[in-house]
Amino acid sequence: MSIQTPMMRQYMAMKKEHPDAILFFRMGDFYEMFGEDAVVASKAMNIALTSRDKGAENQTPMCGVPFHAVETYLARMIKQGFKVAICEQMEDPKLAKGIVKREVIRVVTPGAVVEPSMLDDRSHNFLAAVAPSKRGFGLAAADLSTGLLRVCEFAGEAALADFLNELDRIEPRQIIVPDNLDEAHPPLFKALSAYGKTLDKVDGWIFGYETARQSLLEQLKVLSLDGFGLEGMDLAIMAGGAAAHYLRDTQKGAVKSINRVVIHNPTGLMTLDPATRRNLELTKNLMDGGRSGSLLGLLDDTMTPMGGRILKEWILKPLLSVEAIRERHATVRRFFSDTALADSARFALSGMGDLERTAGRVALPICSPRDLLALGQSLAKLPALREAVWRVDTAIGDAWRALWDDVADLRDLLERAMSPDAPAAARDGGFIKHGYNERLDDLKSIQTDSRRTLLKLEEEEKARSGIANVKIKYNKVFGYFIEAPRRLADNVPSDWMRKQSVSNAERFISPKLKELEDAILNAEERALSLELELFEDLKARTVEQIHRAQTMAAVAGEVDTLAALGHVARRNGYTEPEVDDADIIEIKDGRHPILERAGLDERFVPNDALLDRGDNRLSIITGPNMAGKSTFIRQAALICLMGQMGSFVPAASAKIGVCDRIFTRVGAQDHLQRGQSTFMVEMNETAMILNGATARSLIVLDEIGRGTSTFDGISIAWAVAEYIHNVGARTLFATHYHELSELADSLSGVRNLSVAVREWNDEIIFLRKIIEGGADKSYGIQVARLAGLPKEVIQRAGEILTQLEANEIDASGHPKLKAKEAEGGPLYQLSMFAPAASEVEEELKKLDVNAMTPIEALTKLAELKKKAGG
Ligand code: ADP
Ligand code: MG
Repeated sequence: MSIQTPMMRQYMAMKKEHPDAILFFRMGDFYEMFGEDAVVASKAMNIALTSRDKGAENQTPMCGVPFHAVETYLARMIKQGFKVAICEQMEDPKLAKGIVKREVIRVVTPGAVVEPSMLDDRSHNFLAAVAPSKRGFGLAAADLSTGLLRVCEFAGEAALADFLNELDRIEPRQIIVPDNLDEAHPPLFKALSAYGKTLDKVDGWIFGYETARQSLLEQLKVLSLDGFGLEGMDLAIMAGGAAAHYLRDTQKGAVKSINRVVIHNPTGLMTLDPATRRNLELTKNLMDGGRSGSLLGLLDDTMTPMGGRILKEWILKPLLSVEAIRERHATVRRFFSDTALADSARFALSGMGDLERTAGRVALPICSPRDLLALGQSLAKLPALREAVWRVDTAIGDAWRALWDDVADLRDLLERAMSPDAPAAARDGGFIKHGYNERLDDLKSIQTDSRRTLLKLEEEEKARSGIANVKIKYNKVFGYFIEAPRRLADNVPSDWMRKQSVSNAERFISPKLKELEDAILNAEERALSLELELFEDLKARTVEQIHRAQTMAAVAGEVDTLAALGHVARRNGYTEPEVDDADIIEIKDGRHPILERAGLDERFVPNDALLDRGDNRLSIITGPNMAGKSTFIRQAALICLMGQMGSFVPAASAKIGVCDRIFTRVGAQDHLQRGQSTFMVEMNETAMILNGATARSLIVLDEIGRGTSTFDGISIAWAVAEYIHNVGARTLFATHYHELSELADSLSGVRNLSVAVREWNDEIIFLRKIIEGGADKSYGIQVARLAGLPKEVIQRAGEILTQLEANEIDASGHPKLKAKEAEGGPLYQLSMFAPAASEVEEELKKLDVNAMTPIEALTKLAELKKKAGG
């Protein structure tokens, strides 16, 4: 800085404390940025860069944003991964002696955002804290905006993979790790570096066990963590404590929204790997990553953001326990079959808004009058929801009733206190309702009705003194006074004080009038400060009860989710699946939940699927491109997943023998941005499936081995199928390699299916029906014709195909890929992979011995011997 004014020194001191944040320095109606901060921020926010000391030699770059629009600018910074330290003026500049006192009141980081405009209301906004150790990993996910703090631990062989998987699932906005992570745990550091700017190294000591434990104790205001079931969970404590510490640091202490810690125990929940989540388009579509076209987009008919967030969690974490799944189904069935019940629950929920986040915000410094109003309004919907909940006669309904709390006292308080048109900011007052506080009402009525109040007082004083022509008057010198005729002045009440005599009259002041005068003159100021006092009091009283509102937000969210699933099931014609621990998956007339509603040109054709661990272990689905293979196998996976998350399913009927994992390997997508080729990604995903699948898993494989040459591809696909067959996982394997249908000849439990097509004059018509038996050809050329390739190309391709089929592939036109089952394992007979016939062999084959003379034969023999190198 060129000019070291005291204010700039103040600025520099604060900047030094927050070196990695952009400092928004409040000056009057603006937040100003200086120096390097200004250069970076002006670019990031797209605002003009000026300079502070114009004309001076070393100019200080500077930019600023108006305080009333700060949220918009903050949003731009946070979206780009910046941190912003907000520095406020802590006293009125007009009253300040010397330099205005300033303080950083809060550091906004991507993982510590609470402004509704910066949040996706259907997703949590997680700060993740990662505590690595030799034993495993602790992970904390904290959402400041809802007050959720969730911890879990990963240990054992697959700890790193499981941990990374969970981290990916929660979609953290910011990940904090100890600053020595690169040395302490290189593999983890390497894996996390894919998160780029989201990854944030912070002081390592906050992850230390003792510090972390203390942070949690302080945060939760308890003396022991045992009440949360955390004893012995050192890694979880380290991560949870670090998250609490970090958030308290950024919020300068005030993080009252987080008042409990939840242990996330992944047992009982299905793990879905990132590839499967992506391939099945569970929460994002593959096209542009948006919600529409995803399963979440389809099923999310929730009325509240809480419900939306729960649904998202459920989709990404289906259940494994038959009992737990049936409980959800029973409650969905309740809403499904009683539409009046569903409607009334959904109507009550519709006005509830984001109770969870409102409650969270009330416990933070940014709480505004409108937040208190909104909290009261949300709570006001609970009695109507209670009506509905009392009619849900299921185990889950019982759990709701056990937790139920109308939070009536808090609701009444807020309803009495908060004016329905409360402004967003507290500073101008005007948010307390009439009738809540007598003193405030008086002050307000003084402002608006001072004349009427005076008249009232005049009447009172008349009555008290018994003097009929007493008057209250005003002049600039004396202010307000009571005037009485001189001849009656000796009989005035004793508390009247004589102020002045004028001809024929005496002027008095009474304590009440004095009070009224003060009141009138200061009414506005006093009303405002009283209102702010009342606001602080209301906030404090609300925060004390906030955990009750948070509990009800969780209950309401769950009611919402299950009611929505019932509603959607009815609207989309779903049925309740039968879920058990048996091996069978049997779907009758199953449909693809998203495609069936995508407005296809054709009617969606339902299909059956049958998988078990006996004769129907592995189905190979062949058929031309575009026939419907991918659709069929995905719909089976989606139906199982929907069933296990508690939803009804798009099928005439479905039996689901619970799957411990659902794996998919679908399509070919490039991850070039991650420096991996399509084929490498495909093989990675396949490796993960082969290593993770068990006999209870469901595997859906689509086009394994497409990213390489045909022979490579077929070989890999074949070997993968054999391996899976050995594992015993229930598998649907779609491939355009019709050669794979030969697997069924050699392995028991393998079935061939294909998608029916009808050939008609060189054209094909897709029938979309899955039928027994493999496809005998690929119809690639016919599909190419449908796609509009020029006629010449189609014709020429046909010629080439004929030649290839005649020459390259063995006499029958089929490469034989049979692995005969023999004692001690399969015996391979892969004719296709035998060395290519030599030139000599080829020539021998072509010889027509009967048409040769003996001399010709001898000459040929000598020539061949020479060719063979003899
Ligand atoms: P494949 O994997 O065999 O190449 P897809 O499963 O990708 O084929 O299906 C191609 C298209 O065919 C889909 O996008 C859809 O429009 C249509 N389709 C697939 N299955 C059905 C079905 N059962 N009913 C109606 N249309 C379908
Ligand atoms: Mg396909």
